Amino acid sequence: MTDRYASFVQSAAGRALVKRLGLPDPPRLRRHSPGDPLLPGPALLGAGAGGRLADPVARILTDAGVELADPSATANLTETPQRYGALLFDATGITDSTDLRQLYDFFHPQARAVLPSGRVIVLGTPPLQCPTTREATAQRALEGLVRSIGKEFGRGVTAQLVQVTRDGGATGTLTSLESTLRFLLSGRSAYVSGQVIRVGASGASSPVDWNRPLDGQVVLVTGAARGIGAALARVLARDGARVVALDVPAAGDALAAVANDIGGTAVQLDLTAPDAPTRLAEHLAGRHGRVDVVVHNAGITRDRTLGRMDADRWDQVIDVNLSSQERINDVLLERELIPAGGRIVAVSSIAGIAGNRGQTNYATSKAGVIGLVDSLAPALRERGISVNAVAPGFIETRMTARIPLVVREAGRRMNSLAQGGLPVDVAETIGWLAWPASGAVSGNVVRVCGQSLLGA
Ligand code: NAD
Repeated sequence: MTDRYASFVQSAAGRALVKRLGLPDPPRLRRHSPGDPLLPGPALLGAGAGGRLADPVARILTDAGVELADPSATANLTETPQRYGALLFDATGITDSTDLRQLYDFFHPQARAVLPSGRVIVLGTPPLQCPTTREATAQRALEGLVRSIGKEFGRGVTAQLVQVTRDGGATGTLTSLESTLRFLLSGRSAYVSGQVIRVGASGASSPVDWNRPLDGQVVLVTGAARGIGAALARVLARDGARVVALDVPAAGDALAAVANDIGGTAVQLDLTAPDAPTRLAEHLAGRHGRVDVVVHNAGITRDRTLGRMDADRWDQVIDVNLSSQERINDVLLERELIPAGGRIVAVSSIAGIAGNRGQTNYATSKAGVIGLVDSLAPALRERGISVNAVAPGFIETRMTARIPLVVREAGRRMNSLAQGGLPVDVAETIGWLAWPASGAVSGNVVRVCGQSLLGA
């Protein structure tokens, strides 16, 4: 589905009209192509006194080929102001609300200096890990700053808070944080903004080639015949994965086309069939001997307000979107087909966070997916398997094409980027969570919603 308004706004006539009438102005977002530099310009890295992350972050940035700007040179500039691809601030030294002034001092002079589709990243400590209530309070305050910058800077600039646990030490932090920084700085995270991402201390390994971060990994994608699932299969294959693409037999032709295109295999299976988990487990065991990454993407909507909803609509949605995921996880885990270092990524929705009129069944199932992540992630930590969810907002697919025009247009614009996301935006985010290098990211629900106002 195309966003005609966004295309119009990119034209000369469109630009003039948008300016005159103060209409929403969706920027063209920077999206990833293999070989792209991580950022469109240099990064400015600041740190408060006592911060523990500035050194590892500087190492990660230089290793990734990012030019680090010299803050003192910036202060002395008088003529052409410097423009940055990213502003990063290590706020882990902030232990009291009075220290928050450091953030103002760093960001205020640079508020107009970020290039279009640039990045703002604040690094902090998870409040629950802070030794004093004052520190926990100040660390929690960082969320408000980041979320407001996401709404304020415009032009496709995104802002995130990355909370890094203390227990990794400098070397542990380097490995655990690298994949997340690379993802957030790159065009892969084009439609992710206003997020708080928790990074743990261990479980990650660096790929040999960051252009193929999934090299050799066996990845199952459910619902792969179209929409987000088809984009996912393509992105994961591009990143080096061997993709097992699954969908219902009725979507067999489209599924085969996707699988052929990427050199993957196709599995025609209705996930709600009673024998689906065992048939899938047998297929994976026989063909590959394991599955490194399981992506539960298949999902359906059967919308009605609760009073008008028949029991079938309720049952189908809960079964496809939630119960089938549980049954498949159980069998794959019982048979130890997901090895140490494995990944489970489930697709939730902002409806599961905010609720939605006419979607009690869907929102229940998608909130359940978040519950699954919350409960399974700690249970699987010992086995070295990470579990995360993405919660897409308005994504341009057949699912959203069915929404009535006025509601659809409102859904598209009610976010900080004033546009709907593309299936590839969800796919890139799932890809990052699936990388072997992202093992320190578990138990997160990352919204891919352009910082939607719904459930914010
Ligand atoms: P889609 O309808 O385009 O694709 C879903 C795919 O899942 C289809 O190919 C379908 O055949 C498959 N599927 C459905 N039931 C199945 C079953 N029983 N067994 C096997 N496969 C089955 O949807 P989409 O927009 O690409 O959405 C993908 C996921 O993202 C879903 O979980 C959806 O809830 C979620 N999501 C989408 C949006 C959005 O804006 N499009 C927003 C939030 C969440």
